[in-house]
Amino acid sequence: MSAQRWDTVVVGAGPAGSATALLLARAGARVLLLDRAAFPRDKPCSEYLSPESTRVLERLGPDVLSAVAAASPGRLTGMKVVAPSGAGVVGRFTNFSFALPRTRFDTILRTAAEAAGVEVRERVKVEELVYDSGAVAGVIAREARNGKRDTYRARVVVGADGLRSVVARRLGGVHTTPPRRIAFTAHVGDVRGVTELGEMHVGRPGYVGFGPIGNGVTTVALVVPFAEARRGARFFEELDRFPGVTGRFHARHTVRPVLTTGPFARWSRRPVAKGGGALLVGDAADFFDPFTGQGIYSALRGAELAAAAIVNSLTTGATLESYTRARRREFTGKWILERMIGLAVGWPGLIERVVARLRRRPELADLLVRATGNCLPASAVLTPGVLAGLVL
Ligand SMILES: Cc1cc2nc3c(=O)[nH]c(=O)nc-3n(C[C@H](O)[C@H](O)[C@H](O)COP(=O)(O)OP(=O)(O)OC[C@H]3O[C@@H](n4cnc5c(N)ncnc54)[C@H](O)[C@@H]3O)c2cc1C
Repeated sequence: MSAQRWDTVVVGAGPAGSATALLLARAGARVLLLDRAAFPRDKPCSEYLSPESTRVLERLGPDVLSAVAAASPGRLTGMKVVAPSGAGVVGRFTNFSFALPRTRFDTILRTAAEAAGVEVRERVKVEELVYDSGAVAGVIAREARNGKRDTYRARVVVGADGLRSVVARRLGGVHTTPPRRIAFTAHVGDVRGVTELGEMHVGRPGYVGFGPIGNGVTTVALVVPFAEARRGARFFEELDRFPGVTGRFHARHTVRPVLTTGPFARWSRRPVAKGGGALLVGDAADFFDPFTGQGIYSALRGAELAAAAIVNSLTTGATLESYTRARRREFTGKWILERMIGLAVGWPGLIERVVARLRRRPELADLLVRATGNCLPASAVLTPGVLAGLVL
């Protein structure tokens, strides 16, 4: 086993990892980006980028933004939420958001990282962390091609390896909580009635998301309680339970096999390793529920915060703790809103009530959709007046 040295080893080339690696390389760091998959790789997702993601993509570089715009014929102008009875309400964004297959989006970011000087190695699976005097000092990873294990030493390790992050598990403190849900996602052609709106249909139990991703293809995501999935929930049969979904497409128009992921509702108590030398970003740090579609924005914005803390640490020798504080400042409101909505969709009667209120108060529907799309701070919704307006 030979040892190789880097300023930073980033584990996972999804949006969080590629964006972090790109920003670090641009700041002059020697960066190695490892992913167990070969790109383009797919990822279960509704594939809608919340509108505020556009600003982060712009900061990642005009080339990145223009590549995403060119690859994204799908443009969403708002979200429609449909209650179990079939009653729906629309909230509009202040601007539009992109929607495109993850095979394309993630490959654009991974390629941009490589162009910025990051060394990318695919089909390399990280298995262990290595420590020096209590601080993380690298990773041990296995190459799929030949089964060889290597040690990659680094001043900082970034765990950007998603929902079931091995880096987070090795650091300890991974927390899970109810409600535990499972998702099934498919690409389906010729879905009737699809517009420039994303759709969320809440049922008893679970929910379905529709996201048009251009070229006549819609991402259909079914999210159900873990227990339901264990009882053998079947994708297309389950969709018929939702009044706003049934009859709008046929299983034979599926253009990509169904992908499954979950359970979610996992987060790490500490985004920075206790003894230093490592931090977590994206789903590896925190992922509660996909209903609000904020995961990609959080991954990209988290990458900006992580890169700033790492550059500071590499240049001044400071600890990475500023990252913990920055995440708290940036995400606390978003976490509260996301968890409130994620819990509420488990109570169909409550969703029925909220949708009825929002139909009478369209300005509140816009406010809610803009806050979950990160166009407005979550604090705009988290006031007694707005919260009372949603349910009373
Ligand atoms: C059903 C569903 C629908 C969703 N819909 C939306 C949506 O519409 N909009 C939105 O913004 N968010 C959505 N999300 C959330 C979004 O998909 C995630 O938040 C986002 O992908 C997080 O990015 P990431 O880079 O942290 O992780 P990922 O995208 O999961 O990337 C992690 C990478 O790490 C690699 N990896 C994993 N383990 C290892 C290892 N041991 N060694 C090396 N590499 C490893 C993987 O191969 C992968 O490439 C949805 C999620 C689900 C489940």
